[in-house]
Amino acid sequence: MTFEGLANNRISLICSALFLLLSASSCSKLLANDEPLSDAVVFVGVTVLTMEDGEVLEDQTLVTQNGRISVIGARDSVAIPEGANMIEGRSRVLMPGLVDAHIHLRHAETDDLLEYVKAGITCAREMNGRPFLLEWRERIDAGELVGPCLKVAAPTMGNFSSPREGFPTPQSQAEGAEAVRQFHRQGYDWVKVYTFLPRDAFVGVVNEASALGIPIGGHVPIEVGLADFLSAEIHSTEHMTEYVSSSLTDEATVLDKVDFRSIFGAGDVDWEKMDSQVRSTVKARIWSVPTLVWFDRNLPAPLAADAWADTNLREQGARNRREIVRRLHEAGALLAVGTDSDAGDDLAASAIHDELNALHEAGIKTEDVLEMATTGGAKLLGLIDEIGSVSTGKRADLLLLSCDPRDDLACLRQPDMVVVRGRHVVE
Ligand SMILES: [Zn+2]
Repeated sequence: MTFEGLANNRISLICSALFLLLSASSCSKLLANDEPLSDAVVFVGVTVLTMEDGEVLEDQTLVTQNGRISVIGARDSVAIPEGANMIEGRSRVLMPGLVDAHIHLRHAETDDLLEYVKAGITCAREMNGRPFLLEWRERIDAGELVGPCLKVAAPTMGNFSSPREGFPTPQSQAEGAEAVRQFHRQGYDWVKVYTFLPRDAFVGVVNEASALGIPIGGHVPIEVGLADFLSAEIHSTEHMTEYVSSSLTDEATVLDKVDFRSIFGAGDVDWEKMDSQVRSTVKARIWSVPTLVWFDRNLPAPLAADAWADTNLREQGARNRREIVRRLHEAGALLAVGTDSDAGDDLAASAIHDELNALHEAGIKTEDVLEMATTGGAKLLGLIDEIGSVSTGKRADLLLLSCDPRDDLACLRQPDMVVVRGRHVVE
């Protein structure tokens, strides 16, 4: 990978420094020799998957300027800005960058952000934020760090690690409301609720978050239960765990002393009950972020590792989770793609490609999987006016591909180029 944008920035810095010592004309000469006069990038002769109502435009010229898409038109109909960086499309495919709607960066170094970009991810939602990630979010937006744009959820409420780290652990309605006010003041974009959040605290969190207009995502607290969760003002559910745990037949749950089956979706599912939950989800317009791959491969160590070594149970869990997602999709639920990747601690950024494949395996056609990973994620992040499709005025977050991901999603694993806000990253 080379970072042409970074190289240009460096030249600009050198230029600025020289400007103090030399005349303005010397400086512009340096610019003329070393970088385009404009920051325009032009893709000539590309096939554009706009991701707007399945629209595909053949043999197009697309221009990006100032980090945004400025023009899209038939190959020879577009005026080329002087000094633009020309990229010959050779009928390659240009599409929006991917959105990973569930990642974790709290153990990451800034270099890890590049792994997300290399995987084609140009925006992401961090689901258990830390103050330094708010700073990264700003530095990425300012172009000081190369990485996916970030929406950062506050430290999780109702989990095990937040109390240890001194983050709010609300127990009452008042404490729930106060925690949300605090997170909102600190600049977090979302609040995250988790399995062990007490019901009273949940009520306080929901009321205050809706008053402040900050969205809520996360796990269904046990004391709340899926039905009440779906009727509260919630914006996303993660992992689908509670869908299966609340639909397992009695026999399956009784058999399992440590409840790992319900966590991982293994057991006999009451599909009628599941369909009713699916209908409630569709009606509630709540986003679902399934994270299939994480559950395919992970088991928290203390939880019944021996039993989970049983291949039949693992496969049953994987089948159940895929079937739930298929039913949600078929019923018209809002779905986005998330991996639960954690900057390579356990699951690398590239896991998004396994997740896309798993969603396709679940019975969702490739076009719809691509929509989930682009416009779906953009809507969930509240950024659909900025990203998610290839359209004039939107951010130039683009993937250039030598094959068509509608034919095979594996095509996305090796993008020829990932463009982040008009700064292009070449492989
Ligand atoms: Zn997570």
